[in-house]
Amino acid sequence: MSEFEKLLPNICDSIAKTAAHVISYADDDNKEELLDALRSNVQNYTENSQKFQNINALISNLSSGRSDTNVEEILQNFNDGVSNFQPDSSTNEFLKQYDTRVADLKKNLAGEKSTDNDDEDADMQMTEEDGANLICPISKVRMTEPMKNNICGHVYDKASIIALLRGNAATRCPIVGCSNKKHLIMDDLTSDIVRQMCM
Ligand SMILES: [Zn+2]
Repeated sequence: MSEFEKLLPNICDSIAKTAAHVISYADDDNKEELLDALRSNVQNYTENSQKFQNINALISNLSSGRSDTNVEEILQNFNDGVSNFQPDSSTNEFLKQYDTRVADLKKNLAGEKSTDNDDEDADMQMTEEDGANLICPISKVRMTEPMKNNICGHVYDKASIIALLRGNAATRCPIVGCSNKKHLIMDDLTSDIVRQMCM
């Protein structure tokens, strides 16, 4: 994994946090425009990451290529491979994640101002008084860095998960009754921006 790819989750987290501020504080007139601009940023970063991956794949193909191929042909193939590559945003997990986060943030942050609070929405809303949502189910203390498990949706504090994995690398989601039987890995966890904004 390149340095750029390693940075990508942090970049996307920062963009999502900016989106949270936009939802909380921007004028309604230009809110959607700003959110779209942020979404384009996520798209650009992730497409560039896909382009890097493609170039790396082309380079490793070159180095494993036959020695009797001439240099011009190799260069031509490489250039064609670079210019014909089309990043696919429809399978872009970071973009999907951005859309989900923005939808959650709108529900939880902008929802406070909305007047049409039907019961179903009220259940989903999180306010600062709703302290239970901020208690780590593992450590039972207030979370400092809530992380959401992308597989089952459960949320725990980052420090608790790190401690849990240190004790047993082959651990599963610690929530009693969770149907997610996959071993817990940090790659499956993302910052829970919605909760962080309520802290
Ligand atoms: Zn779970």
